[in-house]
Amino acid sequence: MKITFPHMGNMDIVLKALLSELGHEVITPPPITKKTLSLGVQYSPEFACLPLKVNIGNFIEAVEKGADTVIMAGGIGPCRFGYYNQVQREILKDMGVQLNMVVLEPPDQHIGELLKRLRLITGSNSWWKLIKAIRFSYEKCLALDAIEKEASRLRCRELQRGDVDKVYRQGRKAIDQARSVKEVRKKQEEYIQAMQALPLDWHKKVVKIGMVGEIYTLLEPTASGYMEKHLGYLGAEVDRSLYLSEWVNEHLFKGLLSVKGHKETRKLAKPYLSCVVGGHGQESIGGAIEYAHKGFDGVIQVGPLTCMPEIVAQSIMPLIEKDYGLPVLTIYTDEQTGEAGLITRLEAFIDMLERKKLAIRQIDI
Ligand code: SF4
Repeated sequence: MKITFPHMGNMDIVLKALLSELGHEVITPPPITKKTLSLGVQYSPEFACLPLKVNIGNFIEAVEKGADTVIMAGGIGPCRFGYYNQVQREILKDMGVQLNMVVLEPPDQHIGELLKRLRLITGSNSWWKLIKAIRFSYEKCLALDAIEKEASRLRCRELQRGDVDKVYRQGRKAIDQARSVKEVRKKQEEYIQAMQALPLDWHKKVVKIGMVGEIYTLLEPTASGYMEKHLGYLGAEVDRSLYLSEWVNEHLFKGLLSVKGHKETRKLAKPYLSCVVGGHGQESIGGAIEYAHKGFDGVIQVGPLTCMPEIVAQSIMPLIEKDYGLPVLTIYTDEQTGEAGLITRLEAFIDMLERKKLAIRQIDI
């Protein structure tokens, strides 16, 4: 089996580690480019959400590199994600592309369900080897999240633009190449320290922005027009409401590990949105409230154009703004999104947050 998977942030490194440990030949799709997107757009229905289109582009490019099997996450609940894989299967069939699909869906009752599905790709490997492979790849997931988080915190303070990203990219590569849990942890520490040792302006007055929204646009930088990076360059310290390790723990491991979950976040959303609307709609509302409690200056909600759960959450955001005095900017992205227009909107939002902060300071004086 030559296995591939769609890109979503640092997920390629995590899945590569898992599958390689199990003895598979792994075909990582080429990085997402304009070509990937135009392939996806060409073969997907126009109304499909952006992640589906990018995934199709990934699959086509991976097949060109020799992949014959794709592993991807499935979903349950009232949004389109649940039937993504069926739609993608049909698209590829119509194109005459041969690709077996292994869909890992959240287990309904027990972790055993997930392990049973994983059996499809574990072959003759023992359960012990599978558990070891999961542990190793999850450790990489945690390390990648940790360095990514630190990069988002420090980017706005760098004296030389691009310094933090340079170290972040080196850290990403080092974690990818690490061969043991111990080495992964060592690399995580090493690169976090390397970022903190860069020439940084610790006295700079920055605005703090929390990012909430749909998982793909939060995790995959190309899907949000590199929003997190641009916010940092524009002088904002950024925190995201969702990281890959949290999603994996919550949805695939059923919260078994002691990694931050979103139960409390959803509880906070309840007075405004009491039912599940699919995707991360509830988490977007709860996440915005959490950022208000933590004293953040503003929140950006991001999602693919026409994303149903985020549209529901967006309709509630004005209430959050009013009740918590928290400015919220909602941005949808699709294949037409241009970085220049996006930067202008982010700049205007940061400018407004800075003025608000200054006005509050003057009132206090
Ligand atoms: S969460 Fe939004 S973008 Fe993702 S599948 Fe559902 S509707 Fe599409």
